[in-house]
Amino acid sequence: MLDLAIIGGGPAGLTAGLYATRGGLKDVVMFEKGMPGGQITQSSEIENYPGAPKVLTGLEFMESWPEQAMRFGLKHEMEEVLRVSKQPNNVFELTLAGGKTVHAKSVIVCTGSNPKRAGFEGEDTFFGKGVSTCATCDGFFYKGKEVAVLGGGDTALEEALHLAKTSSKIYLIHRRDAFRASPATVEKVKNTPNIELVLNAQIKKVYGGPMGVDGVIVADKAGNERDLKVPGIFTFVGMNVNNGILRQENGDVLCELSKAGEVIVDLSMKTSTPGLFAAGDIRIEAPKQVVCAAGDGATAALSAMGYLEHWESK
Ligand code: FAD
Ligand code: NAP
Repeated sequence: MLDLAIIGGGPAGLTAGLYATRGGLKDVVMFEKGMPGGQITQSSEIENYPGAPKVLTGLEFMESWPEQAMRFGLKHEMEEVLRVSKQPNNVFELTLAGGKTVHAKSVIVCTGSNPKRAGFEGEDTFFGKGVSTCATCDGFFYKGKEVAVLGGGDTALEEALHLAKTSSKIYLIHRRDAFRASPATVEKVKNTPNIELVLNAQIKKVYGGPMGVDGVIVADKAGNERDLKVPGIFTFVGMNVNNGILRQENGDVLCELSKAGEVIVDLSMKTSTPGLFAAGDIRIEAPKQVVCAAGDGATAALSAMGYLEHWESK
């Protein structure tokens, strides 16, 4: 049986693993369904992590994190966890995608969040064929071409700036005329000549054929439509938390969640279920920053170590 199971290998999970193993826990496994690193690996640049002044891509930035965490004994299993439940004997059971089960005395959930769909016509049909949520992954296909970007948060504006370096023109479509993104980023966007702001506007539909997207129809609040003939559209309309593993077979949830589905934790990252901790974007009021996710991971690991000191099977 594991002392600690960490689910998710983004900044929160990797930091939890580093602190738990460096703190002396022996049997600690981080379950990550893909490559460790988390969603920041999709970012074109990170410039706000303290002590790391060199601007790197998210992938470059996260490259050294697994190595550092594993130096102290953290084990990584490339597995998707389908469910976590707690048995009457005070032991957690993790059900993995292959059907295997794993038992652990304590669990830290660090499953982060995923891009939301915007909900316009054609979005699902053309997803992966011109509709994308990752500029770092797909921006290259639109070198020298015009593209559209949807959203008014930090992600949309930062990724529009990234795309503006290689694409000939960016239509930045936002449903309001005020942005959620930080003022410094908004300023940069406004000063980038090949970004055109299409404000107070929604995408009505994306259209195309077997070869992919041919354009998007955008409508303003008065109903005036505009046909933007772009082969690519990047949507950045916020994130959904990945809380599915907490859902039990009978429909109950393993611990308390907010209305938005985030895990409710206290300042020690404890959930309402003893021995279960949550860290990073998955938790309530997460600032959704790498530095905060890492801080949460460290806090959760220290709390789990305290919990394990008094752990006993029932
Ligand atoms: P995540 O990074 O989401 O990691 C969760 C991990 O869990 C993933 O690797 C996922 O594969 C894994 N996982 C999920 N479910 C399961 C499962 N069932 N079983 C196994 N594994 C699972 N923040 C900044 O501070 N600065 C920035 O410049 C910045 N730019 C960003 C740009 C973009 C494009 C995006 C999308 C985000 C950006 N952020 C930025 C936000 C930052 O990336 C997140 O706040 C941070 O990654 C959250 O870390 P996390 O560990 O909580 O979750
Ligand atoms: P976000 O801040 O939630 O912004 C989502 C944007 O999409 C909003 O402008 C929203 O419009 C718009 N939107 C939502 N649903 C829509 C729909 N159906 N159709 C059209 N537009 C829609 O999401 P985010 O930009 O992904 O950022 C998530 C978190 O990560 C934030 O906390 C952010 O600060 C953080 N982050 C930080 C950095 C950084 O620090 N450099 C970088 C990236 C992300 P409204 O504004 O009208 O609601």
